[in-house]
Amino acid sequence: MTAYIGKNSVAPTDASPSSSFDGIANGGGFYDHTPRRAVDSDFDVYVHDYDSSAAEGTARGVTPPVFDSKNRNSSQTATGTRRTNDGSVDPDKFDRNTRCMAKALFTFTILSIAGFLTWKYGLDEPRNWEETQEGFQNIWEAAGDQWKKWDLGNFTDVLDGLSDDLFSDLMGGDPMLGDNTTINWDNDHVDSENGGLHLTLQNALDDTWQTEFETAVADWRESDALQLTTERVAVDHNCNQVDGVMVVCNANFGATGWVGINENSIMRGVIVSSVAKMNEYYLRNADFDHRRFTMCHEIGHGFGLPHTDENPHNANLGNCLDYTDNPSTNLLPGEVNMAKLRDMYLTRRLRKVEEDGTVVETTQLIRR
Ligand SMILES: [Zn+2]
Repeated sequence: MTAYIGKNSVAPTDASPSSSFDGIANGGGFYDHTPRRAVDSDFDVYVHDYDSSAAEGTARGVTPPVFDSKNRNSSQTATGTRRTNDGSVDPDKFDRNTRCMAKALFTFTILSIAGFLTWKYGLDEPRNWEETQEGFQNIWEAAGDQWKKWDLGNFTDVLDGLSDDLFSDLMGGDPMLGDNTTINWDNDHVDSENGGLHLTLQNALDDTWQTEFETAVADWRESDALQLTTERVAVDHNCNQVDGVMVVCNANFGATGWVGINENSIMRGVIVSSVAKMNEYYLRNADFDHRRFTMCHEIGHGFGLPHTDENPHNANLGNCLDYTDNPSTNLLPGEVNMAKLRDMYLTRRLRKVEEDGTVVETTQLIRR
Protein backbone atom coordinates (compact mmCIF):
# COMPACT_ATOMS: atom_id res chain seq x y z
CA MET A 1 0.00 0.00 0.00
CA THR A 2 2.66 2.41 1.03
CA ALA A 3 4.74 1.54 -1.96
CA TYR A 4 1.88 2.47 -4.22
CA ILE A 5 1.50 5.86 -2.70
CA GLY A 6 5.22 6.38 -2.94
CA LYS A 7 5.15 5.48 -6.57
CA ASN A 8 2.44 7.96 -7.34
CA SER A 9 3.74 10.82 -5.31
CA VAL A 10 6.21 13.31 -6.66
CA ALA A 11 9.65 12.19 -5.60
CA PRO A 12 12.00 14.83 -4.27
CA THR A 13 14.36 15.91 -7.00
CA ASP A 14 17.00 17.52 -4.82
CA ALA A 15 18.68 16.89 -1.53
CA SER A 16 16.63 19.32 0.47
CA PRO A 17 17.08 19.77 4.22
CA SER A 18 13.32 19.45 4.60
CA SER A 19 13.23 16.05 2.89
CA SER A 20 11.82 14.28 5.95
CA PHE A 21 8.81 16.58 5.93
CA ASP A 22 8.61 16.15 2.21
CA GLY A 23 8.36 12.39 2.61
CA ILE A 24 5.46 12.62 4.99
CA ALA A 25 3.64 15.13 2.87
CA ASN A 26 4.07 13.11 -0.28
CA GLY A 27 3.31 9.89 1.56
CA GLY A 28 -0.16 11.20 2.23
CA GLY A 29 -0.60 11.86 -1.43
CA PHE A 30 -1.98 15.32 -0.84
CA TYR A 31 1.08 17.41 -1.53
CA ASP A 32 3.57 17.72 -4.26
CA HIS A 33 6.77 19.68 -4.33
CA THR A 34 5.10 23.05 -4.37
CA PRO A 35 4.03 23.30 -0.72
CA ARG A 36 7.50 22.37 0.51
CA ARG A 37 9.07 25.06 -1.61
CA ALA A 38 6.45 27.49 -0.41
CA VAL A 39 7.29 26.65 3.20
CA ASP A 40 10.97 27.12 2.55
CA SER A 41 10.58 30.40 0.72
CA ASP A 42 8.17 31.67 3.31
CA PHE A 43 10.73 30.96 5.94
CA ASP A 44 13.31 32.81 3.85
CA VAL A 45 11.07 35.83 3.63
CA TYR A 46 10.47 35.71 7.34
CA VAL A 47 14.17 35.74 8.10
CA HIS A 48 14.81 38.38 5.52
CA ASP A 49 12.10 40.56 7.03
CA TYR A 50 13.73 40.78 10.40
CA ASP A 51 17.34 40.88 9.35
CA SER A 52 17.32 43.38 6.55
CA SER A 53 16.46 46.60 8.19
CA ALA A 54 18.33 48.24 5.35
CA ALA A 55 15.74 47.11 2.83
CA GLU A 56 12.90 48.23 5.11
CA GLY A 57 14.41 51.63 5.49
CA THR A 58 14.59 52.10 1.76
CA ALA A 59 11.04 50.98 1.30
CA ARG A 60 9.77 53.55 3.77
CA GLY A 61 11.81 56.33 2.29
CA VAL A 62 14.05 56.56 5.36
CA THR A 63 17.74 56.88 4.91
CA PRO A 64 19.10 53.35 4.96
CA PRO A 65 21.36 52.66 7.89
CA VAL A 66 24.84 51.47 7.18
CA PHE A 67 24.74 47.89 8.38
CA ASP A 68 27.54 46.98 10.70
CA SER A 69 27.40 43.37 11.79
CA LYS A 70 29.92 43.91 14.57
CA ASN A 71 28.20 46.86 16.12
CA ARG A 72 24.62 46.99 15.00
CA ASN A 73 23.42 49.53 17.58
CA SER A 74 26.03 52.07 16.74
CA SER A 75 25.19 51.95 13.05
CA GLN A 76 21.51 52.38 13.79
CA THR A 77 22.16 55.32 16.06
CA ALA A 78 24.26 56.88 13.40
CA THR A 79 21.33 57.06 10.99
CA GLY A 80 19.13 58.77 13.54
CA THR A 81 16.11 56.66 12.77
CA ARG A 82 15.86 54.99 16.18
CA ARG A 83 15.33 56.90 19.40
CA THR A 84 14.17 54.18 21.69
CA ASN A 85 15.93 55.40 24.81
CA ASP A 86 14.18 58.70 25.15
CA GLY A 87 10.63 57.22 25.14
CA SER A 88 9.53 58.62 21.81
CA VAL A 89 7.96 56.58 18.98
CA ASP A 90 10.08 53.92 17.32
CA PRO A 91 8.85 53.90 13.69
CA ASP A 92 10.33 50.45 13.01
CA LYS A 93 8.53 48.94 15.98
CA PHE A 94 5.29 50.64 15.00
CA ASP A 95 5.66 49.30 11.51
CA ARG A 96 6.37 45.76 12.72
CA ASN A 97 3.28 45.82 14.94
CA THR A 98 1.13 46.93 12.03
CA ARG A 99 2.48 44.18 9.87
CA CYS A 100 2.02 41.58 12.61
CA MET A 101 -1.63 42.61 12.89
CA ALA A 102 -2.03 42.47 9.11
CA LYS A 103 -0.56 38.98 9.06
CA ALA A 104 -2.84 37.85 11.89
CA LEU A 105 -5.86 39.30 10.13
CA PHE A 106 -4.85 37.63 6.87
CA THR A 107 -4.39 34.26 8.62
CA PHE A 108 -7.73 34.65 10.38
CA THR A 109 -9.45 35.44 7.07
CA ILE A 110 -7.93 32.40 5.36
CA LEU A 111 -8.94 30.12 8.27
CA SER A 112 -12.46 31.55 8.24
CA ILE A 113 -12.84 30.96 4.52
CA ALA A 114 -11.46 27.41 4.87
CA GLY A 115 -13.82 26.78 7.80
CA PHE A 116 -16.79 28.07 5.83
CA LEU A 117 -15.95 25.97 2.76
CA THR A 118 -15.51 22.86 4.95
CA TRP A 119 -18.87 23.55 6.62
CA LYS A 120 -20.69 24.23 3.36
CA TYR A 121 -19.19 21.74 0.91
CA GLY A 122 -17.23 19.23 3.01
CA LEU A 123 -19.84 18.66 5.72
CA ASP A 124 -22.92 19.67 3.70
CA GLU A 125 -24.01 22.55 5.97
CA PRO A 126 -24.51 20.76 9.28
CA ARG A 127 -26.79 22.53 11.78
CA ASN A 128 -25.87 20.57 14.89
CA TRP A 129 -23.17 18.31 16.26
CA GLU A 130 -24.77 15.11 14.97
CA GLU A 131 -24.95 16.44 11.45
CA THR A 132 -21.34 17.56 11.75
CA GLN A 133 -20.29 14.06 12.82
CA GLU A 134 -22.26 12.62 9.92
CA GLY A 135 -20.49 15.03 7.55
CA PHE A 136 -17.07 13.92 8.80
CA GLN A 137 -18.18 10.30 8.47
CA ASN A 138 -19.11 10.93 4.82
CA ILE A 139 -15.72 12.54 4.15
CA TRP A 140 -14.01 9.55 5.79
CA GLU A 141 -15.99 7.07 3.68
CA ALA A 142 -15.29 9.01 0.49
CA ALA A 143 -11.58 8.98 1.35
CA GLY A 144 -11.83 5.21 1.99
CA ASP A 145 -13.48 4.66 -1.38
CA GLN A 146 -10.76 6.67 -3.06
CA TRP A 147 -8.09 4.67 -1.25
CA LYS A 148 -9.75 1.41 -2.29
CA LYS A 149 -9.77 2.58 -5.88
CA TRP A 150 -6.07 3.41 -5.74
CA ASP A 151 -5.26 0.14 -4.07
CA LEU A 152 -7.04 -1.91 -6.77
CA GLY A 153 -4.56 -0.47 -9.24
CA ASN A 154 -1.55 -1.31 -7.11
CA PHE A 155 0.20 -4.37 -8.55
CA THR A 156 3.26 -4.37 -6.30
CA ASP A 157 2.17 -7.33 -4.13
CA VAL A 158 0.85 -9.69 -6.82
CA LEU A 159 2.12 -13.26 -7.24
CA ASP A 160 5.27 -13.77 -9.31
CA GLY A 161 3.60 -16.50 -11.35
CA LEU A 162 0.74 -19.00 -11.40
CA SER A 163 1.16 -22.78 -11.56
CA ASP A 164 -1.39 -25.14 -13.15
CA ASP A 165 -1.98 -26.66 -9.68
CA LEU A 166 -2.86 -23.34 -8.10
CA PHE A 167 -4.91 -22.41 -11.16
CA SER A 168 -7.04 -25.56 -10.84
CA ASP A 169 -7.37 -25.07 -7.07
CA LEU A 170 -8.70 -21.58 -7.71
CA MET A 171 -11.54 -23.00 -9.83
CA GLY A 172 -13.14 -23.96 -6.52
CA GLY A 173 -13.21 -20.28 -5.58
CA ASP A 174 -15.41 -19.38 -8.55
CA PRO A 175 -18.59 -17.87 -7.11
CA MET A 176 -20.48 -19.40 -10.06
CA LEU A 177 -19.51 -22.89 -8.83
CA GLY A 178 -22.57 -25.12 -8.62
CA ASP A 179 -24.85 -22.47 -10.07
CA ASN A 180 -25.68 -23.84 -13.48
CA THR A 181 -28.61 -21.65 -14.27
CA THR A 182 -28.68 -20.19 -17.73
CA ILE A 183 -29.90 -16.64 -17.72
CA ASN A 184 -30.72 -14.38 -20.65
CA TRP A 185 -30.06 -10.71 -21.26
CA ASP A 186 -33.13 -8.52 -21.24
CA ASN A 187 -35.22 -8.29 -24.40
CA ASP A 188 -33.91 -4.82 -25.30
CA HIS A 189 -30.69 -6.56 -26.35
CA VAL A 190 -32.18 -9.59 -28.01
CA ASP A 191 -33.51 -9.90 -31.53
CA SER A 192 -33.96 -13.60 -32.13
CA GLU A 193 -34.80 -13.05 -35.79
CA ASN A 194 -31.82 -10.83 -36.40
CA GLY A 195 -28.59 -12.15 -34.92
CA GLY A 196 -29.62 -12.92 -31.35
CA LEU A 197 -27.90 -11.00 -28.55
CA HIS A 198 -26.69 -7.54 -29.52
CA LEU A 199 -24.25 -6.46 -26.86
CA THR A 200 -21.54 -3.85 -26.33
CA LEU A 201 -18.45 -4.89 -24.40
CA GLN A 202 -16.72 -1.95 -22.75
CA ASN A 203 -13.01 -2.57 -22.62
CA ALA A 204 -11.86 -0.92 -19.34
CA LEU A 205 -8.69 -3.05 -19.24
CA ASP A 206 -5.16 -1.69 -19.16
CA ASP A 207 -2.70 -2.22 -22.02
CA THR A 208 -1.45 -5.58 -20.72
CA TRP A 209 -4.82 -7.24 -21.42
CA GLN A 210 -5.58 -6.05 -24.92
CA THR A 211 -4.43 -9.20 -26.73
CA GLU A 212 -6.36 -11.53 -24.41
CA PHE A 213 -9.47 -9.36 -24.77
CA GLU A 214 -9.33 -9.09 -28.56
CA THR A 215 -8.68 -12.82 -28.89
CA ALA A 216 -11.56 -13.82 -26.63
CA VAL A 217 -14.00 -11.43 -28.34
CA ALA A 218 -13.00 -12.78 -31.77
CA ASP A 219 -13.55 -16.33 -30.48
CA TRP A 220 -17.01 -15.54 -29.12
CA ARG A 221 -17.92 -13.74 -32.35
CA GLU A 222 -17.85 -17.17 -34.00
CA SER A 223 -21.27 -17.69 -32.46
CA ASP A 224 -24.16 -16.86 -34.80
CA ALA A 225 -26.21 -15.92 -31.72
CA LEU A 226 -23.93 -13.04 -30.69
CA GLN A 227 -23.52 -9.62 -32.30
CA LEU A 228 -20.76 -8.02 -30.31
CA THR A 229 -19.51 -4.44 -30.41
CA THR A 230 -16.45 -3.36 -28.46
CA GLU A 231 -15.69 0.06 -27.10
CA ARG A 232 -12.41 0.95 -25.41
CA VAL A 233 -13.02 3.20 -22.40
CA ALA A 234 -10.79 4.63 -19.67
CA VAL A 235 -9.06 2.00 -17.54
CA ASP A 236 -11.34 1.32 -14.57
CA HIS A 237 -9.79 -0.78 -11.80
CA ASN A 238 -12.95 -0.12 -9.80
CA CYS A 239 -14.94 -2.10 -12.40
CA ASN A 240 -18.13 -0.10 -12.15
CA GLN A 241 -21.30 -1.57 -13.64
CA VAL A 242 -22.72 0.27 -16.64
CA ASP A 243 -26.37 -0.24 -17.59
CA GLY A 244 -26.97 -2.29 -20.69
CA VAL A 245 -23.36 -3.29 -21.40
CA MET A 246 -20.71 -5.78 -20.29
CA VAL A 247 -17.68 -4.08 -18.71
CA VAL A 248 -14.41 -6.01 -18.80
CA CYS A 249 -11.72 -4.86 -16.38
CA ASN A 250 -8.61 -5.89 -14.44
CA ALA A 251 -7.58 -5.02 -10.89
CA ASN A 252 -5.66 -6.40 -7.94
CA PHE A 253 -8.48 -7.82 -5.82
CA GLY A 254 -5.98 -9.63 -3.60
CA ALA A 255 -5.86 -13.27 -2.45
CA THR A 256 -9.60 -13.79 -2.96
CA GLY A 257 -9.38 -17.43 -4.07
CA TRP A 258 -10.65 -16.64 -7.58
CA VAL A 259 -8.75 -15.69 -10.72
CA GLY A 260 -11.73 -14.11 -12.41
CA ILE A 261 -15.28 -13.30 -11.58
CA ASN A 262 -18.35 -12.26 -13.47
CA GLU A 263 -21.07 -10.22 -11.84
CA ASN A 264 -24.35 -10.05 -13.72
CA SER A 265 -26.95 -7.60 -12.47
CA ILE A 266 -30.30 -9.32 -12.74
CA MET A 267 -33.65 -7.58 -12.70
CA ARG A 268 -36.93 -9.45 -13.08
CA GLY A 269 -35.06 -12.57 -14.08
CA VAL A 270 -32.93 -11.11 -16.88
CA ILE A 271 -29.44 -9.62 -17.11
CA VAL A 272 -29.37 -5.81 -17.32
CA SER A 273 -25.61 -5.27 -16.91
CA SER A 274 -22.49 -7.35 -16.44
CA VAL A 275 -18.90 -6.95 -15.26
CA ALA A 276 -16.11 -9.45 -16.00
CA LYS A 277 -13.20 -8.91 -13.60
CA MET A 278 -9.69 -10.28 -14.02
CA ASN A 279 -7.88 -10.67 -10.67
CA GLU A 280 -4.36 -9.38 -11.15
CA TYR A 281 -3.21 -10.84 -7.84
CA TYR A 282 -3.04 -14.21 -9.61
CA LEU A 283 -3.01 -13.21 -13.28
CA ARG A 284 -0.61 -10.27 -13.56
CA ASN A 285 2.38 -12.58 -14.05
CA ALA A 286 0.51 -15.69 -15.21
CA ASP A 287 1.00 -17.49 -18.55
CA PHE A 288 -0.91 -16.29 -21.59
CA ASP A 289 -3.06 -19.48 -21.53
CA HIS A 290 -4.25 -18.88 -17.96
CA ARG A 291 -5.12 -15.31 -18.80
CA ARG A 292 -6.82 -16.17 -22.09
CA PHE A 293 -8.86 -18.99 -20.54
CA THR A 294 -10.02 -16.68 -17.74
CA MET A 295 -11.00 -13.95 -20.19
CA CYS A 296 -12.99 -16.40 -22.35
CA HIS A 297 -14.60 -17.96 -19.24
CA GLU A 298 -15.77 -14.73 -17.59
CA ILE A 299 -17.03 -13.18 -20.81
CA GLY A 300 -18.96 -16.43 -21.40
CA HIS A 301 -20.67 -16.05 -18.00
CA GLY A 302 -21.50 -12.49 -19.06
CA PHE A 303 -23.68 -13.83 -21.89
CA GLY A 304 -25.53 -15.87 -19.26
CA LEU A 305 -23.75 -19.18 -19.86
CA PRO A 306 -23.17 -21.76 -17.09
CA HIS A 307 -20.20 -24.10 -16.62
CA THR A 308 -20.00 -27.21 -18.74
CA ASP A 309 -18.05 -29.19 -16.12
CA GLU A 310 -16.80 -28.35 -12.65
CA ASN A 311 -14.11 -30.98 -12.06
CA PRO A 312 -10.77 -29.42 -13.03
CA HIS A 313 -8.97 -32.78 -12.97
CA ASN A 314 -10.92 -34.75 -15.57
CA ALA A 315 -10.32 -34.62 -19.32
CA ASN A 316 -10.82 -31.28 -21.00
CA LEU A 317 -14.07 -30.88 -22.90
CA GLY A 318 -12.54 -28.37 -25.26
CA ASN A 319 -14.33 -25.22 -24.11
CA CYS A 320 -13.46 -22.41 -21.74
CA LEU A 321 -16.43 -22.96 -19.45
CA ASP A 322 -15.00 -26.36 -18.48
CA TYR A 323 -12.87 -26.28 -15.33
CA THR A 324 -9.34 -27.38 -16.02
CA ASP A 325 -5.89 -27.91 -14.55
CA ASN A 326 -4.38 -27.38 -18.00
CA PRO A 327 -6.09 -24.69 -20.05
CA SER A 328 -4.14 -25.30 -23.28
CA THR A 329 -7.00 -27.24 -24.92
CA ASN A 330 -9.81 -25.30 -23.22
CA LEU A 331 -9.01 -21.85 -24.53
CA LEU A 332 -11.95 -21.38 -26.88
CA PRO A 333 -15.72 -21.47 -26.66
CA GLY A 334 -16.87 -24.95 -27.68
CA GLU A 335 -19.80 -26.28 -29.68
CA VAL A 336 -21.69 -26.99 -26.45
CA ASN A 337 -21.51 -23.28 -25.58
CA MET A 338 -22.54 -22.25 -29.08
CA ALA A 339 -25.56 -24.59 -28.97
CA LYS A 340 -26.61 -23.11 -25.64
CA LEU A 341 -26.34 -19.57 -27.03
CA ARG A 342 -28.51 -20.48 -30.02
CA ASP A 343 -31.07 -21.91 -27.62
CA MET A 344 -30.99 -18.75 -25.51
CA TYR A 345 -30.97 -16.05 -28.16
CA LEU A 346 -32.04 -17.48 -31.50
CA THR A 347 -35.18 -19.30 -30.53
CA ARG A 348 -38.76 -18.18 -30.32
CA ARG A 349 -40.88 -19.79 -27.67
CA LEU A 350 -44.57 -20.06 -28.38
CA ARG A 351 -46.99 -20.79 -25.58
CA LYS A 352 -50.41 -22.00 -26.44
CA VAL A 353 -53.17 -22.83 -23.97
CA GLU A 354 -55.39 -25.72 -25.13
CA GLU A 355 -59.12 -25.79 -24.51
CA ASP A 356 -58.68 -28.14 -21.56
CA GLY A 357 -56.20 -25.71 -19.97
CA THR A 358 -53.02 -27.57 -20.93
CA VAL A 359 -50.10 -25.27 -21.76
CA VAL A 360 -48.14 -26.31 -24.82
CA GLU A 361 -44.79 -24.63 -25.31
CA THR A 362 -43.12 -24.81 -28.72
CA THR A 363 -39.56 -23.74 -29.26
CA GLN A 364 -38.47 -22.72 -32.72
CA LEU A 365 -34.90 -22.16 -33.69
CA ILE A 366 -34.75 -19.17 -35.96
CA ARG A 367 -32.46 -19.58 -38.94
CA ARG A 368 -31.75 -16.71 -41.22
ZN1 LIG B 1 -17.06 -19.70 -13.79
